[in-house]
Amino acid sequence: MKVLNRIDALLDLSEEEHLLLDAVRALCRDHLKPRAAAYDLSGKFPWDNVEEITKLGLNGMFLPSEYGGGKMSYVSYLAAMREMAKACASTAMVWGNTFHAVKPFLNFASHEQKTRLLPKIVDGGMVSLCITEPSAGSDATSMKTKFIPDGDDIIINGSKIFITCGNHAEFYGVFGKWSEIENDRASISIVIVEKGAEGLSIGNKEDKMGQRAAPIVPLSFDNLRVSRANLLGEPGDGLKILFSALNESRPSIAAHALGIARAAFEDAVGYINQRQQSGRSIIEFQGVQFMLADMATDLALCESWLWRVGAMLDAGEEDIGIEASMLKMRASDLAMRITTDAVQLFGGYGYIKDYPVERYMRDAKITQIYEGTNQVHRQLVGRSFIEK
Ligand SMILES: Cc1cc2nc3c(=O)[nH]c(=O)nc-3n(C[C@H](O)[C@H](O)[C@H](O)COP(=O)(O)OP(=O)(O)OC[C@H]3O[C@@H](n4cnc5c(N)ncnc54)[C@H](O)[C@@H]3O)c2cc1C
Repeated sequence: MKVLNRIDALLDLSEEEHLLLDAVRALCRDHLKPRAAAYDLSGKFPWDNVEEITKLGLNGMFLPSEYGGGKMSYVSYLAAMREMAKACASTAMVWGNTFHAVKPFLNFASHEQKTRLLPKIVDGGMVSLCITEPSAGSDATSMKTKFIPDGDDIIINGSKIFITCGNHAEFYGVFGKWSEIENDRASISIVIVEKGAEGLSIGNKEDKMGQRAAPIVPLSFDNLRVSRANLLGEPGDGLKILFSALNESRPSIAAHALGIARAAFEDAVGYINQRQQSGRSIIEFQGVQFMLADMATDLALCESWLWRVGAMLDAGEEDIGIEASMLKMRASDLAMRITTDAVQLFGGYGYIKDYPVERYMRDAKITQIYEGTNQVHRQLVGRSFIEK
């Protein structure tokens, strides 16, 4: 792994971040990786892994100190995410989902809202962002959830689908349309709903192909009443808040996908060095070497772009939507290709559950679909070149 390890060694992290990353690696080696196959099989929620993550203070990585955190660089978060996804893609998604969901609160919540909500996350609490609806997926702006102001309250009616950790969240960022604003897009707003709110129903967990221990559930809101103090920003700020959150969650999905790809690549290299056919190690066959060359080269290029986009965010760049789309699209396509090739290199053994490569392949698939499908990202990147 010399060439790939050399890229990792170039990461510009502080001493404290290096120490934390070492602790994450130890957590992955001792707990997450050994438990990953059993969680995949049972689909049960990985509470013990979440407890270890909380003990290590990893949620604090993305929260400022005034709300109980110890904020570190975005690059160090991406590095921790990639390590975790290498070990257990489900647990990494459970952790990363809170990072994705907390962004709107960090950037747009009032001091009162932050003081009320953010310390719950330091203590291991989870957050979910609720955008998707049964008839509003890629076109999120066609969502139907309604926010009706009523004196000092807001009444919420509607439903959401596929909400990651929606059955365990301490609070939710729910997107919907403000009834008093006529323009459809301009009416999109975001409201905080806290766990146990009257009128909130949580449906059954979906039975998924991969990342099986990271649950997704449907939610419905039936005349759910919250105080107006739960509105994030102003009525109609929803799309601005959503786009700013996606710029950071999409690179995170890329780090997750690249973690799965790295695990598959490393397992495949280990296997084909050992496995003998026709009196030789499989890695000695030129056809196999060509496959490895493509896998390693694309990994090296994509990982380099991951750290580059991470550094741009750390430097305070805000206009990185296209860079983030390119990264998410390429990293997730690569994860799918490398995990599929890894199964191929394991031969028949790759197809059975004694080896983790079949799990990697199932875990990788969704990275091409959520946080904007890759068709949507191709459209975003392509149309950015239209000259007006
Ligand atoms: C495991 C998992 C976790 C998720 N977590 C969350 C969550 O926490 N919160 C949340 O709000 N949502 C979540 N989602 C929802 C996810 O973001 C959506 O599934 C995704 O955006 C796609 O929407 P859709 O499923 O309705 O597909 P559709 O939008 O119906 O797309 C179907 C197909 O049509 C293609 N298509 C659609 N529009 C276009 C276009 N303009 N051009 C070209 N092709 C197009 C798509 O690429 C896709 O191939 C999750 C989904 C899953 C499966």
